[in-house]
Formats: sequence, structure tokens, C-alpha cells
Amino acid sequence: SLNGQQIKQIIFKIAQMIDENKMYLTELDAAIGDGDHGINMSKGFQAVIDKIKDDNGDNIGDMLKKVSMALIANVGGASGPLYGTAFMKAGMWVGNRREISIEDYYNMLLEALNGIKARGRASIGEKTMVDSLEPAINELKVSIDNKFNELECLEKMVNSAKLGMENTKNIVATKGRASYLGERSIGHLDPGAVSCYLILKTIFEEVK
Ligand code: ADP
Ligand code: MG
Ligand code: MG
Repeated sequence: SLNGQQIKQIIFKIAQMIDENKMYLTELDAAIGDGDHGINMSKGFQAVIDKIKDDNGDNIGDMLKKVSMALIANVGGASGPLYGTAFMKAGMWVGNRREISIEDYYNMLLEALNGIKARGRASIGEKTMVDSLEPAINELKVSIDNKFNELECLEKMVNSAKLGMENTKNIVATKGRASYLGERSIGHLDPGAVSCYLILKTIFEEVK
């Protein structure tokens, strides 16, 4: 299980990781988009840090809603409202809990995924962040049902996100700016699928 303080710490780590990968994500986006994904995400997560730095973590839902609002207001581009929706939905699901179990985590992520899919009108196989998130969540569900321990569940989830992220190389983009390239988007990783995988990996690494 995780408490609000630990989740706050994880969010800080995500912000640091995004900052470290700012150039990488931006290069990925330069190949098939407009070259700002890393810049967008880094700006957004700096605003997130400002917004939650004094949060005591007693109300996880409220904290995640603050994250959401900072992302929506500060990430220019498609990924802002999408990640913003994800954190908003996760926050709404978790409510005023102080601690979450692995099952809660699964439910929060499922809400986040459904929020992204609804907001972006995206489904799996369109070369977006959904391509790393959805297989990851499916794997998490299987692992929980198989009664693996929390760490094993998270590790399997991250491995699955990685495979989904790598597979975006093989597909044609049909959503977002990369869709303007059509077939020419093949051979490139989707920047949003990469940032999403990196976020899930950071969560795992902080928990372990
Ligand atoms: P922009 O494309 O507006 O510059 P970013 O570069 O920050 O925004 O984010 C691009 C990422 O957003 C893409 O790599 C993709 O993963 C994701 N994305 C874009 N449009 C959609 C959509 N309709 N549904 C889901 N994800 C999307
Ligand atoms: Mg972009
Ligand atoms: Mg842009």
C-alpha cells in the first residue's frame, strides 16, 4: 500500500525524471510532431511541484486534482488535457483516502485510462500514450488476479508498458499531430507513449 506522503514523493520523482528526459522526449516529438513534448511536460510538472509542495498528503484525491489542474493549465499541447484528465479521474476515484492498496491503484489507473481514451477519442493501436498505458493496466489486472505480490504486479505492469511503448514504432499514427504523417510515422516511437511508460517506471522504482 501507499500513503499520501509516498504518493507526493513519487510525483516529485516523476517531475525530476521528466526534467531529465526533457530533451529526449522533445527529440522524439521533433521526428513525428512539433518537437515540444519534453518542454510541455517539464513545464507542466514544474507547475505541479509548485502546486503540491505544501500539501500534507492527507487527502490523496485532492492532491491528485491539484496535479491535474497544474497540468491542464501549464502543459501547452494535446498531452496537457490528456494527462490532466488522467490525474483528475484518478483523483475522483480515490476520493479522500489517505492510503491506497494495489487494487485501488489499479482502479485509479483504469479510470485514468478511460478518461484519456474518452478525451482523446483514442483507442489502442493509434500510436498514442494509450498504447503503453492500456496493456500495462491489463497486465496489472492479470497479476493481481494471480495473487502476485505488489512489487511483482508493478514490475510486470512496467514490462508490459515497455513492450507497448516499443510497439508504437510499428504502427501508423491516427491521432494527434503524428497522424499528419500517415505511413511516414512508422519507425518512430510515440513521444506520449514513451512519457507514459517512463511515468509508470518511475512509480515502480520509487515503490521498490
Ligand atoms: P502536441 O501534439 O499538441 O504538441 P505534445 O507534443 O505534448 O502535444 O503531446 C503529443 C502526444 O500526445 C502524442 O505523442 C500522443 O501520445 C498524445 N496524443 C495526441 N493526441 C492524442 C489523442 N487524441 N489521444 C491520445 N493521445 C494523444
Ligand atoms: Mg508536440
Ligand atoms: Mg505542440
